[in-house]
Amino acid sequence: MTTPGSYINESPQTIIPATSIMTDEQQHEVRCGMCARELYVDEHSYRSYAEALLSGLDNPFRCEFCCEEYDDLAFEG
Ligand SMILES: [Zn+2]
Repeated sequence: MTTPGSYINESPQTIIPATSIMTDEQQHEVRCGMCARELYVDEHSYRSYAEALLSGLDNPFRCEFCCEEYDDLAFEG
């Protein structure tokens, strides 16, 4: 749901962890927003992804490796 006029500038980027293994539930291919590794997500996550792209936002998905890196950076800085 989006409310018209509610512009949130300073909200942190939403990171969605994703796995590189296709499962029964995760059959939609996306790319890691940092390293472009192929990842698989479920239908719900995939829609969030499509909406994010349509809204001009960055790819929210992160592979497990980049998620670790992100955690490290957040911890240090
Ligand atoms: Zn990655």
